[in-house]
This record gives sequence, C-alpha cells and structure tokens, in this order.
Amino acid sequence: MMGQLPGGQERLFYSFNIDNHVPADHLLRGIDQCLDLGGLRRYLAPFYSPVGRPSIDPELMIRMLIVGYCFGIRSERRLCEEVHLNLAYRWFCRLGLDDEVPDHSTFSKNRLGRFRSSDAFRFVFERVMQDCVKEGLVGGEGFAIDASLIRADASTARRISGAELPYCELDPAQATRAVREYLEGLDEDGRPQLERKNISLTDPAAQWTCAPGGPAFFAYSTNYLIDVRAGVIMDVEATPAYRTDEVDSIKTMVERVQERTALKPRRMIGDTAYGTAPILSWLLEDKDIDPHIPVWEKAERRDGTLSRSEFTFDIETNRYVCPVGKHLNTTGTITAEKTILYRASRSDCRDCSLKSQCCPNTPSRKIPRSIHESARDATRAIAKTKLYRRSRRDRKKVEMLFAHLKRILKLDRLRLRGLKGARDEFLLAATAQNLRRMAKWLVPVPA
Ligand code: SF4
Repeated sequence: MMGQLPGGQERLFYSFNIDNHVPADHLLRGIDQCLDLGGLRRYLAPFYSPVGRPSIDPELMIRMLIVGYCFGIRSERRLCEEVHLNLAYRWFCRLGLDDEVPDHSTFSKNRLGRFRSSDAFRFVFERVMQDCVKEGLVGGEGFAIDASLIRADASTARRISGAELPYCELDPAQATRAVREYLEGLDEDGRPQLERKNISLTDPAAQWTCAPGGPAFFAYSTNYLIDVRAGVIMDVEATPAYRTDEVDSIKTMVERVQERTALKPRRMIGDTAYGTAPILSWLLEDKDIDPHIPVWEKAERRDGTLSRSEFTFDIETNRYVCPVGKHLNTTGTITAEKTILYRASRSDCRDCSLKSQCCPNTPSRKIPRSIHESARDATRAIAKTKLYRRSRRDRKKVEMLFAHLKRILKLDRLRLRGLKGARDEFLLAATAQNLRRMAKWLVPVPA
C-alpha cells in the first residue's frame, strides 16, 4: 500500500532532544569527547571590554570553526548556514534548536579582529596538542618535518615585478588588510623586495612559485613538525613559499615545542631540503638530535670531471688526498660562504695524468669544505643505519597528513589573505587534524 505522510507541521509543542538525533559513530561525537576548551575564556578575557553588549561566545566561535575545518566548509557564510541547518553541527556547537547562529559578518569580524590579535588559534592548537601528549599519542622519540605549498587567494594576472613596487598602487591608506600587513612588515623582512620577479597586488606576501609540472602561482607554505608515533602535529608554521623560509622554520618549531612540552626528539626526519650543513650542524651540535636527513650534496659534479667524493679527507693531518695520492692543503681561512679551501700544488697537477678529468680549466684543483663538514659526515654515517631505513618509512606520515589536508579537508587554496591569514588557516586545519586523530585513537567505535 502506498504510504502518505500524515502532515502536521503545524504542531506547536515537540518533545525533541538533539542528542538523540546525532549518530553514535558521528565524527563530531568523538571530537567532542577529546576537545577541552577550558581556559579559553580566561585567556581571551583581556581582549574583551567589561561593559557593552555581549559578543559571540568565544567557545561557540571555536566550535564552529572546528566544524568548518573538519568538514571542509571554509566559507563563513556557508558555515553559518550549515550550523543553522545541521543537527549534528548544532549539537557540537552546544546550540539548542531555538538558539541563534551568529551572523556571518559578525563572525568574520571577530575572527579577523579579536581572535587574530589575541593569537587564540595558536592557544587552541597548543591546548589540543598538549592533550595529545597527555593521552600518550606522542612518543617524543622521532619527529618528522616537511612543507607543502598551498595556493594563495590571489589571481596570477594581478601582479607586478619588484622593480615596479615603488611606483604601484599599494597605497596604505586605501589598501586591503593583506596589503596593509605586507607594507607594515616590509622593514622587518630582510629579503630585497625589488629583486622579486612577481608580486601579487592582491596578496603581496604570497610567493610566486612553480610546482613541478604545472604553471606558476602565488602560494604560502604550511610547515608541519609531527611526532611519528601516531602522526600528531606538534607544531605548524606558515611561511612564504620560499625554501629558505621553510627550512628555517625547523628551528622555530623545535624550540617552541621544547618550550611548550619539554619534548626533544632523538631523531629528526626530513627530506634533502633540510640536509644543508648549517641545519645539520644545528641539530647535532646545538640540539643533540640525530638528523635522519639525506645530506645536500651540491659538490657532486655531473660534467664527467672528478667529484669531491673521489678525494679522501684525512682528519689527522687536516688535508685531502687526491686519487693519485697527492695532498690538498689549506691555510685555514674561512670564506664568506663559511667554507675552508683546500688546494693541490700547481706542480703536482701540471704533470698529472688525470688533470683533464680533475681541473681542466684551472692550474690546480681546489676543494671547498664546509665548516660544518663534520656534521655532514656524521649524518652520512647515520644514513647507513637500520633506524634510518625506518625513518624513511616514517617520513610518509607527514606526507599523508598533507594529502589529507588537501583532499579531505579541502585546504588546497586559502580563503584568507596575508601571512597572518595563512597562519590562522593552517593552525585551524592542524587543530582539526589532531582532533580527528585523537578521536580515532582514543574513542572506541560503538558496536
Ligand atoms: S690534477 Fe692534481 S689534484 Fe687532480 S688528481 Fe691530479 S694531482 Fe691530484
């Protein structure tokens, strides 16, 4: 028999409990059990006036943003609509059926104003990360670091070269928030802006970059430092998509995690970008952390002539020995590039049968040796261990988090502009990823 709805939407009184309508295995139930926002109101108290109209509840703001970043809803207008309509989102945000959802413009104003100036998103990220540590999800033995490009909200068409910068329309009085922040930060930024080939007029702090195999675009980098036990994100840092900035973020993040949690890993896992001599030396000598990182070997030659690896360094006599047994000595002078030059004698090289393969264009062979070469040697030795092979597998965990960030959380393009906008978005996305991880590891799946 064909059924028919009884109708009756005119009923005045209902017995309705939202909790009964949220499935027991809903992701937000697990996240709700793991999320503790105690202390948020106290942290934010100095940023609110004691008089005037009450603002949006900060905990409601954070819960709504967590919903947005967990389910890839990053438009504030859409997020407010979804929280209004979706029972599970309402339940997670502690809203009753009759409770008002904040207006998207008020929501946005609070987010970009008070929440940004108070650094509330970092407070929440660190709170969740510390809960992961307390719950035993963090081993503290091995950390992995990597960076991933995220497209900026900036058209590739609206751009100028650095040389045009002094004559362009970046007027602080009429500029957008992202442009103002960029202009204010110009003096602090050591990178010569006039040498930049492409600067976005919409988001000047974004870096023009070209990922392999695709056209160039404006982007920021999200840098993750993770613990390899459960893949918990220990720290996140937004930088322009510039390799030097990405690599330097390792120091900021390692120091900050140590300060916040007193954790310092025994091994640091990364790709070749982090294998420069100064970083390896900092890890080994300053921090006593073993770099499980491939050494950046820029000294290898590809033109058929002898590479430096064909020469043996004799640590006792502080000199290189070339393939025919001659010595390359040094005066010990340190160059501007922080290297020490070792030279063969002209008379040795002149009569050598390997000269055309060794130094065809110079009277004698010279080899620059980094002042951090001992750190590079120690790292090469680590690369031969069994633990290093495990580290190579562990590195995939950070790559998987980036894939999850882009495919599931849909953060492949930023909505907020400026470095501060990128930082806010990366912190919220990393918080959402840690909460999902906690829910998965700690909350039993209902039978
Ligand atoms: S050219 Fe000079 S440095 Fe090179 S192999 Fe011959 S003697 Fe040694």
